[in-house]
Amino acid sequence: MLDLAYSEPTAPRLKGMTGEWEMVIGLEVHAQVRSEAKLFSGGANDFGAEPNSNVALVDAAMPGMLPVINEYCVEQAVRTGLGLKAQIHLRSVFDRKNYFYPDLPQGYQISQFKDPIVGEGEVLVHLEPGVARRVRIERIHLEQDAGKSIHDMDPEMSFVDLNRTGVALMEIVSRPDIRGPEEAAEYVRKLRQIMRYLGTCDGEMQEGSLRADVNVSVCRPGDYEKYFETQDFSHLGTRCEIKNMNSMRFIQQAIEYEARRQIEIIEDGGTIDQETRLFDPKKGETRTMRSKEEAHDYRYFPCPDLLPLEIEQGWVDDIAGALPELPDEKRARFMGDYGVTEYDAAVLSAAREDADFFEAVAKGRDGKTSANWVVNELFGRLNKDGLGVGDSPVSADQLGGVIDLIASGDISGKIAKDLFEIVWSEGGDPAEIVESRGMRQVTDTGAIDAAVDEIIAANPEKVAQAQEKPSMAGWFVGQVMKATGGKANPQAVQAAVKAKLGLG
Ligand code: ADP
Ligand code: MG
Repeated sequence: MLDLAYSEPTAPRLKGMTGEWEMVIGLEVHAQVRSEAKLFSGGANDFGAEPNSNVALVDAAMPGMLPVINEYCVEQAVRTGLGLKAQIHLRSVFDRKNYFYPDLPQGYQISQFKDPIVGEGEVLVHLEPGVARRVRIERIHLEQDAGKSIHDMDPEMSFVDLNRTGVALMEIVSRPDIRGPEEAAEYVRKLRQIMRYLGTCDGEMQEGSLRADVNVSVCRPGDYEKYFETQDFSHLGTRCEIKNMNSMRFIQQAIEYEARRQIEIIEDGGTIDQETRLFDPKKGETRTMRSKEEAHDYRYFPCPDLLPLEIEQGWVDDIAGALPELPDEKRARFMGDYGVTEYDAAVLSAAREDADFFEAVAKGRDGKTSANWVVNELFGRLNKDGLGVGDSPVSADQLGGVIDLIASGDISGKIAKDLFEIVWSEGGDPAEIVESRGMRQVTDTGAIDAAVDEIIAANPEKVAQAQEKPSMAGWFVGQVMKATGGKANPQAVQAAVKAKLGLG
């Protein structure tokens, strides 16, 4: 397999009144575990169900109810950790994080604090061909999600929906290695892509399955490098945390706004208060939610209802052995096996279904031609209709059939596009369509010669012009192509035109 080297991108700079600044960003991503049941109960994890219909007694915190760990959720967290090349901790501990929230009846959230299930890992964030940022992962811990309070259904009352209460969340904490708004969005996209490959999180941001707390600080050029060398945070600026972002666009807008806000304060002689802020998408601004002084004291302590979680290396090895090929490996393999560009390899491996479709087309065919047809024609057409590859009216077999007809010289590339449109809208076997509709390319030189003769005879003044100015030959080629309904082999027509005009 190809081992690709990437260069680090340079961090974007922001201009202030007193010089240049850089951004430093760390993300805490909350990813809902894909599982049928919740982390500690048999309540269903089923988005969009009737409110309060998926609430087990444990989720409602009925007296005397005890949490029981869902092994599948643990497996999903381990799988995610392995996908992020992270250390798996064979022993981890669940803690109670105490706070009052109306949509969390227990009065505390069961989470992991000092001993998370997954330790250090890394993610490669691709920014453009040949350029990628290595973002270190600090940890992933498992915790319960809270329910939802609903304040906009009634002018006087609030409602609570406990369906989400107790659903398993993975909190993926990055080191502050992300250096700009685009990188932050790309990082979240990469996490989502990996988890979708692994089947551990569906990544539906608009359903709340994937949300991020975004930590932002600013520093002077050179300071981040000092931090990176020493891991001494005093080289970095004070950070603010923007809570609960659920769109890539908002993440970028919030970082942009927040960095400029901090620069302005520092340049005015002020200091940044470490605080939690909220992003207002309507105004495009962040505003204070709570400052450090009002920060919660969660009084973490090990949950007495749960034993430390101990898993076996053999079980972890089995999960590791069954991991699918991941995006980075697939991308490198596509470049090596099929000779496609990094850009095409990235598009083709965006999702497993896309990659599988491409490989079905490319099997036994020219890799680059297959990539070109899948990326430009098929994906282009699917995008236009807002469809995914799973809904494609053209199957891999049918697209392969079109490509085979070009390779054999039966049709030209131009006719192939018409053929693709016919298969797209009417279905059918491409070879049969070419046969029954007489779309086969005319390579018979006799027929081409006759068509050229006819055009030459009808246009004596153009012939004279072409003999003066040989680039005029293109006009004759165009006329012959038109006369043959685009079916003539363009190379053969070109040769015949040149010969007959004596332009050889
Ligand atoms: P807490 O649990 O209080 O939020 P953590 O140490 O777990 O604190 O850090 C949370 C996030 O903040 C991490 O993703 C980390 O990378 C990020 N972070 C820490 N320091 C900075 C900084 N100076 N600038 C930007 N992000 C930071
Ligand atoms: Mg935090």
